[in-house]
Amino acid sequence: MHYLGIDLGGINIAAAVVSEAGEILGRGNIPTPRGAEAVADTMAAAARLAAEQAGVSWEELAAVGIGSPGTIDPQRGVVQYWSNLDFENVPLVDLLRRHFPERLPIYMENDANAAALGEYAVGAGRGSTSMVAITLGTGIGGGAVFNGKLYTGFNYAGMEVGHFVLEHGGRLCTCGRRGCFETYCSATALIRRTRESMEQNPDSLLWKLAEGDLSKVNGRIPFEAAGMGDATAGQVVDEYIEYLGCGVASLVNIFQPEIFCIGGGISNQGETLMAPVRYILNREDYARNNAHRTRLMRAQLGNDAGIIGAALLPKFR
Ligand SMILES: [Zn+2]
Repeated sequence: MHYLGIDLGGINIAAAVVSEAGEILGRGNIPTPRGAEAVADTMAAAARLAAEQAGVSWEELAAVGIGSPGTIDPQRGVVQYWSNLDFENVPLVDLLRRHFPERLPIYMENDANAAALGEYAVGAGRGSTSMVAITLGTGIGGGAVFNGKLYTGFNYAGMEVGHFVLEHGGRLCTCGRRGCFETYCSATALIRRTRESMEQNPDSLLWKLAEGDLSKVNGRIPFEAAGMGDATAGQVVDEYIEYLGCGVASLVNIFQPEIFCIGGGISNQGETLMAPVRYILNREDYARNNAHRTRLMRAQLGNDAGIIGAALLPKFR
C-alpha cells in the first residue's frame, strides 16, 4: 500500500506518494493560492502530480495525510487558526474530501508534529521507543513521539517547545511571554544577537562576512566568523550554544526520550553545534550516570520530514 502526504506551506504546497517504508516515490509542487477552496483544490492538484510521477493510481492509496501550519483540530479536520493565510475554522479535510474516493481516510496534523513523526518513522528516531524533536528555524518548532504515538496534549496544542521559559523576565517573545526558548535559540534569535554584537564591535570580521550590511546577516555567518577566530563571533556562538544546551538538557530531564533530535537550518553546522551541546547535556543530564542515556542526533530528512510524516500519520495514531 502507498500513502499520500501533503505539506501545506504559506508559499508552496508539496505532495508526495510515500511507500510503506517511508520512501518518496513521486512528488508534486504548486504555489499556494489564497482562499480556502483554492487551497484545497491546489492540494488535490499537487497530489495528482505526485501520483502521476509515482505511477500510482488512487485505488492503490491507503490514506491521505496533511501537515498544516497553525492550530489544528485533527479530530474534526479543521484549521482553527493560521494567520499567514487568514484561515479561521477552515474545514480543510472536508474541502479536500470531494477530490478523493470516499473510502480513503484523510488525516491532518500540525506541520511541526508531522515533521517530528517523519523523523521518528524513517529518520533520526527510526527504531526507537521515544523521541523529542526540535527545529531551529524562524521560531522553534517541535514534536514528540512516545511509545510509537505522537503526543499532542489533550487539546492538540501540546509540545510547543519553543515557548518554555529559559530566562525569566528575559526578551519579549512573539507569544507574549518573556524569555522563551525560541527568543534565545531560534535562527532569528541568533541573527538578532549577531547584529547587536556587530553594532558594538565595528572591527569584527562579522562585518566583512556580511559585506558591511546588517541585513545580510544569516545564521551561518556567526559560525563562519567564529571558525576563523573572530572573538566577537566566538562570544555570540558560545552564548547561543550555552542557551541551546541548557534548553536541550531541560527537555531531556523532563522527557528522557531515547532520541533527542535537532533539525532546522542551524543544525547544518553539524558537529560544530552538536559536540558542545552534547558536552552540556553530559554535564547537566539528570540521568548522566544511568546506563541508558538519551542520544542526541541531527535530523536526517531535511525538508522531507513534514511530507513523509504527514503521509505516515495513520500508522502512528
Ligand atoms: Zn514564547
